[in-house]
Parts: sequence; structure tokens; C-alpha cells
Amino acid sequence: MAADPSLVLREVFGYPAFRGPQAEIVTHVIGGGSALVLMPTGGGKSLCYQIPALCRPGTAVVVSPLIALMQDQVEALRQAGVRAAALHSALDPQEVAATWRALASGELDLLYVSPERLLAGDLLERLAEREIALFAIDEAHCVSHWGHDFRPEYIQLGVLAERFPAVPRLALTATADPRTREEIRTRLKLEQGRVFLASFDRPNIRYLLRDKDEPKAQLLRFLEDHRGEAGIVYARSRSRVDRLAADLRTAGFDAVAYHAGLESGVRSAALDRFRRESGVVVVATIAFGMGIDKPDVRFVAHVDLPKSLEAYYQETGRAGRDGLPALAWMVHGPGDVPQLRRFIDDSEAPAAQKQIEHGKLDALIAFTEAPGCRRQVLLAHFGEQLSEPCGNCDGCLEPRARSDVSVPAQKLLSAVWRTGQRFGGAHLVDVLLGADTERIRALGHRQLSVYGIGGELDREQWRSLIRQLTGLGLLVPVPEGRGGLQWGPEEAVRAVLRGDRKLELPLPPPRRERRRSGVRSGSTGAGATVATALGEADPQLVAALKAWRTEQAREQAVPPYVVFHDRTLLELASRRPGSLAELAEVGGIGAAKLERYGEALLAVLAHA
Ligand code: ADP
Ligand code: ZN
Repeated sequence: MAADPSLVLREVFGYPAFRGPQAEIVTHVIGGGSALVLMPTGGGKSLCYQIPALCRPGTAVVVSPLIALMQDQVEALRQAGVRAAALHSALDPQEVAATWRALASGELDLLYVSPERLLAGDLLERLAEREIALFAIDEAHCVSHWGHDFRPEYIQLGVLAERFPAVPRLALTATADPRTREEIRTRLKLEQGRVFLASFDRPNIRYLLRDKDEPKAQLLRFLEDHRGEAGIVYARSRSRVDRLAADLRTAGFDAVAYHAGLESGVRSAALDRFRRESGVVVVATIAFGMGIDKPDVRFVAHVDLPKSLEAYYQETGRAGRDGLPALAWMVHGPGDVPQLRRFIDDSEAPAAQKQIEHGKLDALIAFTEAPGCRRQVLLAHFGEQLSEPCGNCDGCLEPRARSDVSVPAQKLLSAVWRTGQRFGGAHLVDVLLGADTERIRALGHRQLSVYGIGGELDREQWRSLIRQLTGLGLLVPVPEGRGGLQWGPEEAVRAVLRGDRKLELPLPPPRRERRRSGVRSGSTGAGATVATALGEADPQLVAALKAWRTEQAREQAVPPYVVFHDRTLLELASRRPGSLAELAEVGGIGAAKLERYGEALLAVLAHA
């Protein structure tokens, strides 16, 4: 007789209710169904197979691409009293033998394996002799050539359908795009299974974009509000990563660098510190990616533009997996764009691929330039409509006042015309501001009637206007002309020049003002929101609970979040339970953890 999934959720994992489509998925799989599950990072994919694993007879086999991920999951399950083990290349023979014995005697609820381990030797034959509860294929997008985490071994996982036709198969991924989705379904032979698509919104992530001015200083100001929190800073190049990490250390942050140019030992030490300690900031290139399942990453900062909106969503998605408030902060400016375009043009990819890459970059630029709610634009890109502005992004929290910019727009359009419709933003602004550059002199642009007529806006404001007119289609890139701009449809441009069309657009505040007030550069107060997210949590008590958790984690050599998530500690501190029965009501405390840690927690709560 199968156990009741809600009861397992409560008793084993300590959670009162399923989230989003979890309940439906769990029921479907317990009933023997296969499925593809698309859920954002932090959405709660693991429970979708862990609960059926405990409700169906036999052992569940979970295919996972990374050893670190497997180990964390196994540890967390063991802490919850679940019989879980992993088979992978980093184990010693004794551990492997113990796992084989447990498997043979039917004492394993979940077995985690890497794809290559599953397909090697006679593991599949051995499994065929046993009762298998289900197969779960985590990070299923690794089967797709289209995504960037392609793993050739994943392709062969299609054999599971043929060899175990009666066993439910569940593929899970946080990659939503339709092309990857179809590839997963075909390759894993899930055409007959259901598809569960959760919302890709991450409401606890606050999106904050800032105009790039002095990225290093802006970053330091931003980090000042987040001392002691774990976070990731993404930068484009290895050298920039090394420099920034050093700068952050000088400023007293516990920062480590991570990029593909570092020796693998150095890299894994950085990752290990980030996972096991609580306030480490990793400064990284995009090489720092899959496998970051740390739940309490409080911010992801971009000092350079990512290469697409998909990449931005994935990278920022590493923040706030635990559902507590988290920040996605980014500085961006037109200066990033030419370099990214060059990267694409200089790559070895075929022309069609380059065109796709340019298109993806355009979508990202449109996102950074869009007035209004960021989340609406981001979700729309993934085919999801958010009917109301989110109230948790810079567009919603700091709406920019619009003003009549018709006259500056006319000056700009004239400057484009007078200079011959072939120059990029930087030169156009030089002309408008009357700059005395070598290039201006060489081209004789001092003699133009538009030279020096743009004193009413500063450089950053002109740049913003250029980006917005480009967004409106009044200016368009010159075909094949690196960053050069020309007029859009003549009729539309003429309407602006004649004054028939008024333009009301938001501009950044003048530079002097930006400096003085520090607006749009740092202070967000999100640190405070984390603490207050769950009511009145006494900071001293939270600190005492964290210190206790650190001790526990050290003794057992596991990351602290395997013992308890921050969310659980905050709930403990705000509810201050005084008995075991009250402790059991706190999210994340199931029967096994209550038994193991209950008395000790009560002691911490009583004495702090
Ligand atoms: P994913 O694999 O989709 O990124 P996880 O499975 O790691 O997400 O879950 C993210 C976090 O949400 C974990 O801390 C998990 O314990 C928590 N969680 C998942 N489902 C629930 C639920 N129904 N109630 C409360 N917390 C949940
Ligand atoms: Zn918003």
C-alpha cells in the first residue's frame, strides 16, 4: 500500500504543503506516469521525484550530472532519515561495496548515479533484477545540443525507455525554451508522457539595473550593504575577474576568483569554500555555472552584460533558491555592446549562428532599455505574461520621470544625417557636445552646423537617448557597419523633425546629481528585507542559531544548508518554539531532524 504523499511531505521533509504543480506531478508519478517537468531554479524539482521514491515500492534511480550535486542531495536526504546513496567515480571501494549491498537487499530508497556510471558495466542488468520505483533524470537539458550544458552520455539515456518500459521516467530541467524541451522529449522518449510547466517567475528576486558609470566603485558601494552575505559577481574576462577579486579582498570582502584559466584544484577549493562557508563572494566568469545549488546565495551581480537574456535569467537564477529575498544587480551601458558584437563576429561559428547570437544580444539590450517593469519584459521573453507590474524591480521601485525630449531628439537625428549616417553613438555624442578629438578634426566635423549644439544633456543622457531612439526604431544599425547608426523609416523620422511627433522619454539624472545623491548606484535595503521576511527575527538569536549550525556542519563535514536552511533558522528565531511539538511545526523540520536536533535547538533557543 503506497504511503500518502502529503504525509511524507510533512513527516519526512517537514513542509506543510506542496508548491505549484508539485502535488499534481507527484500524484502522476506515483500512479506510474512518466513526465517532463519544467520548473525554474529553486522551484522545488527534487521533491517531485523524492516523494514518489518514498511512496512507490522499490529503489528510485536518480541520474545527476555532477558529483557535488549528488553528494549534497544524498547528505540532505540522510539528514531527513531517508535511505539514500550515490555511485560515482569519487568513492572509495568500501563505500561502493556498502551501496551494492544496500541495493541488493532492497534497503535503498534512492540511488544517485552519474549517467556514465549508469551505462557502464552491468549496472543496468543489476537494476533490472530489482524493483525500480522510478527513474529521475535531473538537469535533463544536458541531452540537448541546443543548450550549453550538452553531455554526450545523456543521449544514451533513451535506452531506459526500452529496457524498463513499465517504470515511470521523470525528466527535470530549469531550461524553458521550446526547442530544448522538444529535444528532451524525443531523445528521452517521453513523447507519451505529460509535460508539467511551472511559472518561471522568481518573485523573491529583485531585479536592479543601473547605468554603468564606474563599475568597480558602483560594485563596491553595492556590496557595502551586503557584507557577510554569500553572492556571485559575474564579469566577462578572466583578467577582469582576477582584478575584481583582488579589489574586493582589499576592501575587506571574503572574495575568491573562479574562471577556466585557474588550475582545477584552485577552482574546486573556491567552490568548496563558497558552499561550506556562509559569507563568501565568488567573482567569476560564466565558467561558474551548473552545479551551484547553494540555496542561500543572496545576490548575483553583473558588472558586464551577459550574452543573452537566457544567460541572464540562468545566472541571476542562482540567487535566492531558498525563496528568501535576493538581488539580481547589474550595471550596463552602451560601452559593453560593441565588444560583445565583436566576440560574435570574430567567433568561428557559421553565419546563421552569428545572426542568432546577434538577435539574442538585441533582446538583452531591449530588456536593459525597456522602461517600466523588468519582470514583465523578462517573462514575456519566455512566453509568460505578467498582468501587473511586479513591484520588485528598479522599473517598479524607481520609476524614471519622463520629459519632453523632442528637441534633443531632433538634434540627434540631424547629427546622424549631417555626419553621413555611418557613425556610432560615441562619435555622435562627441559631435553634439563639441568635443575636440583627433577624429573630429580629421573628419572636419567641427564645421558641421550640429557641432556643439547639444549642451543641454550630458554624455550619459545622450547615450540613453540614442539607445531609446534605437529601441523605437527611429535609428537603426547600419548593415555590416560595426555600431554605426542610420535613420529608421524616413516618414517616422521626418515626423519627429517637423515636430509633429512629440517624444516623452525617461532620461537618467544629470551626472553631477547622480554623483552627489548616489541615486541609482547602491543602497537597496534588501539586507533588511531578508531579516524581516519572516516577521520579527531577533538578529542575535539568528546569529546564535547560525553559530550552532556551523558547529554541526563542521562535525559532520557537510555544508551548513544540509543541516538546516536559513529559512528554517529565521522561522525558528521569529516563532521561538518552546517544545518539541512546537518545533515540529517549523518548516524544514521533519521527524528525523526533530529527533536528531530537537533538544539541542531548544537549548539554543532557551539560552540566546
Ligand atoms: P530546484 O531543484 O528546482 O532548483 P530544490 O528542489 O532544490 O529546487 O528546492 C528549492 C528549495 O525549495 C529547497 O530549499 C526545498 O527544500 C524547498 N522546497 C521545495 N518544495 C517545497 C515545499 N513544498 N515547501 C517548502 N519548501 C519547499
Ligand atoms: Zn517590476
